Amino acid sequence: MSFSSLGISKHFIKALDELKIVKPSPVQEQSIPFLIGKGTDFIAQAPTGTGKTAAYGLPLLEKIDPKSSKVQALILTPTRELGQQVAKQLFKFTKYSEKIFTEAVYGGAKIETQISALKRPTQIIVATPGRLVDLIQKNAVDLSFVKVVVLDEADEMLTLGFKNELTKILKHTTGKTHTWLFSATMPPEIKTIIKNYLAADAFRVTIGTDRLNKNIAHQYTLTMDEDKLDTLAKFLKNMGEKRGMIFCKTKAAAKTLAKQLKVKNMATDAIHGDLLQKERDKIMRAFKNESLQFLIATDIAARGIDVRDLAFVAHYELPDQVEFYIHRSGRTARAGNKGLSLIFLTKGDMKQLKFIQEKLQIGIDKVVIS
Ligand code: ADP
Ligand code: MG
Repeated sequence: MSFSSLGISKHFIKALDELKIVKPSPVQEQSIPFLIGKGTDFIAQAPTGTGKTAAYGLPLLEKIDPKSSKVQALILTPTRELGQQVAKQLFKFTKYSEKIFTEAVYGGAKIETQISALKRPTQIIVATPGRLVDLIQKNAVDLSFVKVVVLDEADEMLTLGFKNELTKILKHTTGKTHTWLFSATMPPEIKTIIKNYLAADAFRVTIGTDRLNKNIAHQYTLTMDEDKLDTLAKFLKNMGEKRGMIFCKTKAAAKTLAKQLKVKNMATDAIHGDLLQKERDKIMRAFKNESLQFLIATDIAARGIDVRDLAFVAHYELPDQVEFYIHRSGRTARAGNKGLSLIFLTKGDMKQLKFIQEKLQIGIDKVVIS
């Protein structure tokens, strides 16, 4: 199977080739022909890292009329980082096509700048729900020509509490609009959104019945609170050149850990909700361009982040919610690569470990870090 046989235009394929995206992934194979063809309401569920962005992004680009300067498509993403990432991917896909303008808008950046940016021709808006609602209220966007609304990482949007915003936005884009929903998981709240805002006969694609990517090895190491930092440091040293993310539950814990690891001369920094957008961008850039080897993050700050070749995810603190464990682990083993998800467990976490194992039906193997 090739992108050309799925109906993708030559100029996009040329750009894809340069990005080493040559063979469509299963979710792309199943989504693209329908979305390019009928393209009515659509629901896709596929594990993290399986190429959902291109699965909707390419058909979306095929549907844009570059001659019209109206906003024709809207992509909603749960976080600013993810929004920027999606906009960037679309930009890369259009390297050899007629100019298609995508604007990413999100909270934490000056709204005035975004308002004036939206006065330029813009065919695709990528937005976080909260900021889009603000822009709608300020009459800064005209969504009346939107043909497609994409809800990307819909599950994460709901766990971040965007239900009210989503409802408001979807009220504005009814009419001739089709809604495409992409999600790694299908919690009950998503089913409600689907029931309320998508057509009853929406086309459905489900890839893999497992919520977890099969290429991830799950392990834990038992440590005492007072030895935890040293055990983590040992593990990071053992990783050599390999890169990864380290998760904490709270902003405070992430900040402290960053300080402690920097003292040990580790190339690391933390992203969390207390940082200004500019600071977050700077850290993400440093991590992506590999001047940082390890990224410490809180659950919220890390949503949807796609960094290539992450060998591992370390849970310095275990999350309370099983869903968070899925999302964290999904940062590794992307694009068909293998990855490790390692928990730094203290005695008090035993119950939570069992719970995760049972709920996800996975084996988590004990290892010793030395
Ligand atoms: P998801 O949204 O499903 O979590 P992404 O769309 O972020 O996944 O894609 C994960 C990574 O895989 C990205 O770096 C992307 O460029 C890459 N990728 C996507 N499709 C393919 C493909 N068909 N072949 C190789 N790499 C791909
Ligand atoms: Mg995605």
